[in-house]
Amino acid sequence: MEGRGDSILNTVERYYKDYGLRARELRNEGRRLTGYVCSFVPLEIITASGCIPFRVRGDIHEPITTGDTLLETIVCPYYRSCFDLSVKQKYDFLSGMVIPHGCDSMVRSFSAWSYSLPFPYFHFVNIPTVCDQSSIEFFSAELNTFKKSLERFVGKSITEEDLAKAIRVHNENRDRVRDLYEFRKTDPPLISGTELTRTLTVGSSLPVDEANGLYDRVSAEIKQRERSPVKKGPRILIDGACLDNVELIKLVEELGGSVVADTICNGARDYFPKTDIGGNPIDALARRYLEKVNCPKTYRANRAGTFEGDIASRFGDTGVYAKEFKVDGSILYLYKYCDPFGFEVPARKAYYKSINVPLLHLEDVYSAGTMGQLRTRIQAFLEMLG
Ligand code: SF4
Repeated sequence: MEGRGDSILNTVERYYKDYGLRARELRNEGRRLTGYVCSFVPLEIITASGCIPFRVRGDIHEPITTGDTLLETIVCPYYRSCFDLSVKQKYDFLSGMVIPHGCDSMVRSFSAWSYSLPFPYFHFVNIPTVCDQSSIEFFSAELNTFKKSLERFVGKSITEEDLAKAIRVHNENRDRVRDLYEFRKTDPPLISGTELTRTLTVGSSLPVDEANGLYDRVSAEIKQRERSPVKKGPRILIDGACLDNVELIKLVEELGGSVVADTICNGARDYFPKTDIGGNPIDALARRYLEKVNCPKTYRANRAGTFEGDIASRFGDTGVYAKEFKVDGSILYLYKYCDPFGFEVPARKAYYKSINVPLLHLEDVYSAGTMGQLRTRIQAFLEMLG
C-alpha cells in the first residue's frame, strides 16, 4: 500500500473509500483474487492456494438497483448490497467467489451469484448448524472438498505445509488485530471505533501479509498519540452481524459515545478466535470455524439445562468483552430480514439484563438514509447512560 502524507490512517481512509484499490493493482500484476462473504469461509485455504481472499462488502450510500432485478428482496439488505455491487461490476477484478452456509439468504442466493457473475470459479462451503463430533467430521470433509476444488482451479496441489504456513500468518493477523483492540481500553480510547473498523475493512481487502504490515503501521502511529481522537463519553459495545460501513459507529462517536468493543463479523467475531497449531490443519480449521466462531447460525446444545445457563453459554463472549473493555452500554444493530440474529433478540435481551448492561436494539435497512432517524434514538440512549 502506497502511503500519502505522513499518516497511515489517512492512507487507510483513502483505501476504505476506494475499496478494492490494491486488489485491482494485484490483479494487474497477475494475482488471482477470490471473493468471499461472511465469517465462515476458511481464508487460510484460499491463502494456501496462492489466491488472495478479498472480502466483498456492500455500500450503504449506493441504492440497490440491478441486484434487486436478480435476487429476491426478502434477502437481508446487507447481502443484497454486496450482490448489487458485484453485478454492477465493482468487483470485476475477482477470479472467483466463495459463499458459505452462513444463513438461508446465502444458501438460497448462491445460484443467483453463480448465474449472474462471469467469474471462472465458484464454490459453496456447506457448514453444519450444530456443533458435535460428527459435525466436525462432516465439516472437515467439506473443507477437503473445498481444498480440492481450489487445487483444480489453480492447477497445483495445496500441501499440509502450505496450510500450516497460511494458518500461522492468519493467526499473526488476528494477534495484530487484538493489539489494535488493546488501544480501546484507555478512557477515552486511543483509537476511535471509526478508525478501527475502517482499518479492519481495508485489511480484509489485502493479502494477509500486507494486512499484517498495515496493522503494524497503524499500531505504531497510535502509540505515538498523546490524546484520544474522541471525547470521554459512555463506552459502547456494538453487537450484531457485519458492519462494513462506518456510518453508525461514526454517528455514535459524533454524539459523544466511544465505541470500544464489538461482536461484529468484521471485528471480534472474525478476528478473536485463533486456529490451533499442530495436528491435521484441515481438522484444526474445522474446529476453529465451527467451535470458536460464535454466531447464531451455529446451534449449541443447552448443556446447562436452564434458560439462564443457556444464554450465559451462548452470549458469554459479549459479557467478557463488556467487562474487559469496561462497557457502559450496548447497541444491538441488526438488519431487517436477518433471521439468524433476529430470532435471537429476546434471548440476547435477557442476557444483557442478566449482566446489567443497558441495551439499545436498532433494526435498520443498510442505507445511509436512515442515519437521521437513528440519531435521535442513539442520542437519547447516550444521555440515559450519562
Ligand atoms: S446479516 Fe444476517 S441474513 Fe444478512 S448475510 Fe449476515 S447473517 Fe445472513
